[in-house]
Parts: sequence; structure tokens; C-alpha cells
Amino acid sequence: MHAPAPPTNLLNAPLIGRLLRWRWGRLFGQTLFLLAALLLIYDGFTGPPLAPENLASVAIWVHYRGFLIFALLFAGNLFCMNCPFTLPRTLAHKLSLAGWRWPRRLRNKWVAISVLMIYLWLYEWLDLWASPLLTVWIVIAYFIAAFILEALFTESPFCKYVCPLGTFNFVSSTISPLQITVSDGEICRTCVGKECINGSPQTLGCGTQLFAPQIQSNLDCVLCLDCARACPHDNVALTVRSPLKEATSSAPWPRRWDLNLLIIIFAFTGVGNAFGMVPPVYELELWLANLLRTDSEGLILFLIFAVLNLALPIGLSLAAAWLSRALAKRTEPLRYTLARYAPAFAPMAFAGWAAHYGGFHFLGSALSIIPVFQNFLLDHGIQALGQPNWALGPALPLSWLDPIELVIVLTGLAASLYALSHRARRAASRPDSPIAQLPWVLLLLGLAIAMMVVFYLPMEMRGSAFFS
Ligand code: SF4
Ligand code: SF4
Repeated sequence: MHAPAPPTNLLNAPLIGRLLRWRWGRLFGQTLFLLAALLLIYDGFTGPPLAPENLASVAIWVHYRGFLIFALLFAGNLFCMNCPFTLPRTLAHKLSLAGWRWPRRLRNKWVAISVLMIYLWLYEWLDLWASPLLTVWIVIAYFIAAFILEALFTESPFCKYVCPLGTFNFVSSTISPLQITVSDGEICRTCVGKECINGSPQTLGCGTQLFAPQIQSNLDCVLCLDCARACPHDNVALTVRSPLKEATSSAPWPRRWDLNLLIIIFAFTGVGNAFGMVPPVYELELWLANLLRTDSEGLILFLIFAVLNLALPIGLSLAAAWLSRALAKRTEPLRYTLARYAPAFAPMAFAGWAAHYGGFHFLGSALSIIPVFQNFLLDHGIQALGQPNWALGPALPLSWLDPIELVIVLTGLAASLYALSHRARRAASRPDSPIAQLPWVLLLLGLAIAMMVVFYLPMEMRGSAFFS
């Protein structure tokens, strides 16, 4: 019998492998991102107050989010890899102000879910996308929050338990084609120091406390490659895998309420976020304002988002789990049933965000960065790139955007349905019958229909002068 072939290791690839392994590789990427962040902060404070003309709002709300989608789809969590917010981490660790452990009760995703909800609500209520000033204050708030948490606590609680961008990237990267693993599990079994997680006097271990030989999921991996730099046996690998590996995996998925509800909440927020940009939301706001006799837009949006982004996904997924368990004639705890099916929602969830951010906003405004940058240079007396052409915006004909969004949503739906039936067939002890999958199939179909209806409504093209 042959031993299994060692996984293809991108860290051994010519050039790219050397760059990834390079001791200063992450610092280099983070420094580039930091310089970009400083430029955006500068223009946010001193540049044009109109969002479609300011580098900060256009680059962050259109281009950052668009590139993020493509990076997650074709590679992995590249933003966290180069995240500038964690740059002060080393300094914060050296200060080591308190050296506390992150409270045990908070070592889950509930804080991350809450922060993500608050972030989406503030985005809509305060029209963050329309204000370069508020946009850069958010960037500054990220730096401060990351620094304080890193300085006070020993692990990296900001990335793992708090950061809403990290939460977005973690869930999305479960469908990414790259994953950390080890080349030879035998070497790990006899490894004494476990430096990949513990670190050494010269190297950092895994900040989010993942143990390379046991990694089955991209969740919580910031792709920093500290584990690869720390391993004295050169045994950590960055491998290429099927994007559906996690969604269809028969390896046990953690039966945790927070993790599984996070995936389904993430799928619903993809629609909820887009719903805040289409005409029916204004009618609903008006109706609620009359009903509650309030003119507080913040309160009304809070209620709408609380229902769309929290109450609906939690209520419907619990109902689906209960029904599915009854149809399968099982007596297991409800969270076991939820954990069997929730990971199958990841492709659908990502497709919703990809269609909206990547398919609509990015492809619909990608070229808008050119006149904005020309304008920035002109404001600083540099005429090398000429006069801005504010008509530049879409990267593709606008009539293509709706079909592209439709294809993305249908691809996500097909992938999720495939993953669902795969997980049902490989269920512990015995396969679940097709009838037991029905509640989940209906939930996925409902989500896909909601996405298509909302995405096909006239939507605000935020961040582009072309449409204003
Ligand atoms: S990955 Fe490296 S450091 Fe970690 S357990 Fe295996 S051999 Fe040891
Ligand atoms: S496993 Fe940990 S150390 Fe390795 S790349 Fe992921 S987050 Fe970084």
C-alpha cells in the first residue's frame, strides 16, 4: 500500500513560495496596506467632501470590497494576511499592558456577530458610504481597537472574536481554495515544541490559536503564515483544495450554536444589507414610522435589520433544524442537526455577497477610481495624469450586471444544494433521507429567490459619481 501523496505546497513554489516564507513578507504586505490606509485617511480629512470624489470612500466602499470578494474566491483571506490594523500587534505585545486571557465566556462568535450587526446598522443609518470623514474615522477606530485589545490580552482576540471584517473574511474563506495544513502528520506527532502554535523566542506562534496539524477549516485563519515561519521542521504547507471541501466535508464540524448560526446569519445579511439600498426599504421605513409614531430613522432601521439579519435567520434555521430532525426521526440535540446542515449554506452566503459587492458595486463602478485619483493629484498640483473624466465608472456594460448577479446566485445555490445532499448522505450513524433535507432546501430556495428579487430592484450605486 502506498503512503498518501504529500499535499501540493504553495510555500515550495518558485518565487511566490519564497515571498510567502520570507521572514518580513507579512510585514512588507502590511506596510503597503498601512501606507494605503494613511493615504485614504489623509484624503478623507482633507479631500473633497463628496463621497464619489474622495479616495477614502471610493477605495474603501467600492474597490476594497470588490477586491476582497475576488481574493477570497480565487485565493483566500488575503486581506487579513496583509491587514494593517494588526501591524501595531508586535508593539502592543511588547507593551503587554495587562497580559490577560480573553474571558472564557467570550471565546465564541457572539461578540463578532453583535459587532457585525451594529456595523451593518451604522453603515445604513449614518450613510457611512456617503461620508469620507466618517469612513476614515472607522478606519482609525479599527486601529485603536486592534491595538488596545492586542495590548491587553495575550492571544489575538480582535481578529478572532471582535473584528467584523475578520468575521466576513473567516466565513467567506470557508469556500476559498487555499488552506493551511501540514506535509507530514508523523513529524507533528513527535514534535516537542509545537512552535507553529506556541511560537519561539524568535518567532510568533499562531495568534488565533490554531494548531496546524489539526486544521480542517479556514475559519479563524488570518493566513499570516506565522505557523510556517515558526515550524522548525519546515512542515507547514499551504495547499490548494476544492472550494467545496468544507461545505461537503464529512469530518465533524463543531456543533456550536454560535458558529453554525453565524454562517446562516451571514447568508441573510447578504440580502438584508442589499435591501437597505432598494426603494421598498423607504416604503417600509415610512410605514413603520407611522405605526410606531416615531421619526427616528436609527430606531426604524435597527428594527428592520434586527428582523432581517437576526430574527429571521435564527428563527427559520431553528425551525428547519427542528423539522428536519423530526422528519429524520432522530432524537439528537437540535444543535447537532443544525451543525449537519449549516456549513452547506456557506457557498450560498458567499454568492449573495459576491453578487452584490463584486457583481454589482465593483463591476458597476470599478473605473471610478481613475478620475478620483486624477482629481487627487490635481488638488496637489500634479498634472501628470490629466483632467478627470467623471463619466468613467462601469468596468462592463451595465446591462450585463443583472445577468452576472443571477449567474453568481444560481451558482451559489447549486453548490449549496450539492453540499446539503452530500452532508445528509454522510450524516453520523445513518444518512438523512431526502425528506429530512426538505426544510433546508426550502430555506436555500427562499434565500436565493429573495436575493434575486432584491438584486433585480433598482439599487443605489454607491460611491460612483457616474450615477450621482
Ligand atoms: S507543524 Fe511544525 S511546529 Fe507544528 S506540530 Fe507540526 S512539526 Fe511541530
Ligand atoms: S494557522 Fe494561524 S499562524 Fe498559520 S496562517 Fe493561519 S492564522 Fe496564521
